[in-house]
Amino acid sequence: MTATMLSPAFVAHLPTGILVGGHWGPAAGGATFEVTDPATAEPIFDVSDAIPADAVRALDAAHAAAPAWRAVPPRERSELLRAVFARLVARADDIAALITAEAGKPLAEARAEVLYGAEFLRWFAEQAVRADGLVRMAPSGGNAQYVSRRPVGPSLLITPWNFPIAMATRKIAPALAAGCTVVVKPASLTPMTTLLVAEIIRSEAEARGLPAGIVNVVPTTQAGPVTEPLFEDPRLRKVSFTGSTRVGQALLAQASKNVLRSSMELGGNAPFVVFEDADVDAAVEGALVAKLRNSGQSCVAANRFLVHDAVARTFADRFAAAVGAKVTAPGTRPGAEVGPLIDEAAVEKVSGLVDDAVAHGAQVLTGGARLDGPGHFFEPTVLTGVDADARIVTEEIFGPVAPIVAFGSDDEAFELANGTPFGLAAYAYTTSLARARRAMDEIEAGMIGINRGLVSDASAPFGGVKASGLGREGGEAGMEEYQETVYVAL
Ligand code: NAP
Repeated sequence: MTATMLSPAFVAHLPTGILVGGHWGPAAGGATFEVTDPATAEPIFDVSDAIPADAVRALDAAHAAAPAWRAVPPRERSELLRAVFARLVARADDIAALITAEAGKPLAEARAEVLYGAEFLRWFAEQAVRADGLVRMAPSGGNAQYVSRRPVGPSLLITPWNFPIAMATRKIAPALAAGCTVVVKPASLTPMTTLLVAEIIRSEAEARGLPAGIVNVVPTTQAGPVTEPLFEDPRLRKVSFTGSTRVGQALLAQASKNVLRSSMELGGNAPFVVFEDADVDAAVEGALVAKLRNSGQSCVAANRFLVHDAVARTFADRFAAAVGAKVTAPGTRPGAEVGPLIDEAAVEKVSGLVDDAVAHGAQVLTGGARLDGPGHFFEPTVLTGVDADARIVTEEIFGPVAPIVAFGSDDEAFELANGTPFGLAAYAYTTSLARARRAMDEIEAGMIGINRGLVSDASAPFGGVKASGLGREGGEAGMEEYQETVYVAL
C-alpha cells in the first residue's frame, strides 16, 4: 500500500516494526494496525502494534545502553546529532511526503516541519558540548561548592500526531545530547515519520560504533496499557509527554509512584489580541499563520481572536476575505494551502463547536461547514459576534475556525486573555510600545508573539504555564529537562 506522493523505492525501505536494542522486529503479539491518509481516509501502512511486553523489552534495552551512552564523550554525542541533522535535511522532500501522507498537511508545510524538526538536532548538537556546572566558595568560606550535571537516565517520550517529526526530535535530541537513552511512544495516528527518524539515528549510531539501544520505539494502539508497566519500573527515570491536558494529568499521577522527572507540554487556548492601534493588515497576516498552520491543529494555534471595537469590523472583513481565499485540498495537490483534519472525530468536534456558536448568535463570515467528498476536510471559517463564554472560545478548537470576540478596553482584553485555565501561547498586535510591554507582563502564557503569528524556534524555550504544562523544550532549558543537578561540598 503506498500513498500517491511516496515513491515505491522509498516506501520499500520504511521501517514499520518495533525498534528495540538496535534491532527492528515485529510486536510480541504479532499484531499490526493501519495508518490512514487523512485526505482520503484510506489505509496506507500497516505498523506493528506493541504490547506491554514490548515496552518492557524497550526499557531493558534503554537501561542496558545507558552506562555506555553516558560515557560517550559529549563531542561524539554532538557529532552524531549533527550527522542526523544533515541526513534529515538531505531527505527533506521524502520525509515531507511521508508527513503529508500520514498527517495530511500540505507538502510545503510538511517540508517546513522537517526543517524545523531537524533544527532540534542541530541546536542540541551545539548544546551537547556546553553542559556547564559551577565551582564557587561557600559564603561561610568553609568549603568549595562544586555543582555538576548528570543525565537523568532512561526516559519515556510520548508524542502527539500533529507534528510527527518535530514533536519527536524536540524530545529525542536533548535527551541524547544530555546522555540519556530513550523509549519513544509515537502517536498511533502518525507513527511512520518517527520510525523513519529512529532508523536514521540507529543507522548513524551503528556506523559510528556507538551503543545500540539508545533510541527504542514502540508504536501501539494501546497507549495506556503499554506505557503503564514503565511507570511502575524504577529503572525509568523521566517522562516527557506532549498531548492533551487530560492525558497529561493522568500521566503525572502515574509518574508520582516513582517520583519521575516530568515534562508536560499540554493543551492551549491561545488568545490573539488586536488592539485599537494595531496595524490591521499585519494582524491579518499574522492571524492567518497563527490560525491556519496545520489546519489549526497546533497547540499554539490562535484559538480566540480578541479585537478592539474600533477595528473589529475592518479586521473581521479583511481576515474573512483572506481566509475565504485559501485553497483547501489534499496536501499533495499543487497549490493546497489548508489540508484535512486528522480524522472523522476531529471534523465532528469542530462542526459541533461551530454549530453551537451559531445557535448562540454568532455569524459566519466565511466557511462554516465540512467539505463533501472523501477525507476529513472542514472549510476555513471566520465567525463574528461570538460570546466570550461560548464553547468555541473556552475549548481548544483544533481546527481551521477563527471566532472573533470584540472588546472595549485594554483591561477587558487582558481579563479575557487570562480567563482560561490554559497558558501556552498568546499573540498581541499593537504599534504602542507601552501596550506591548503590558502584554508581555500581564498575559499569562509561556510564549507571547508581539506583532508575530509564529513563535516556535528550536533555540527558544517552548512551553506553557497553568494547565498548559510543566517544563520547556528547545533553547538552553530543553537539555536541562534531561539532567540532574549534583552538588558536592568540597
Ligand atoms: P493525546 O490524546 O493526549 O495523545 C498524545 C499521546 O499520548 C499519543 O501518543 C497518545 O497515544 C498517548 N496517550 C493517550 N492516552 C495515553 C495514556 N493513557 N497513557 C499513555 N499515553 C497515552 O493528544 P493528541 O490528540 O495526540 O494531541 C492533541 C493535544 O496535544 C492537544 O491538546 C494539543 O494542544 C496538545 N499538544 C501540545 C503541544 C505542546 O507543546 N504543548 C504540542 C502539540 C500538541 P495514541 O496516539 O495511541 O492515542
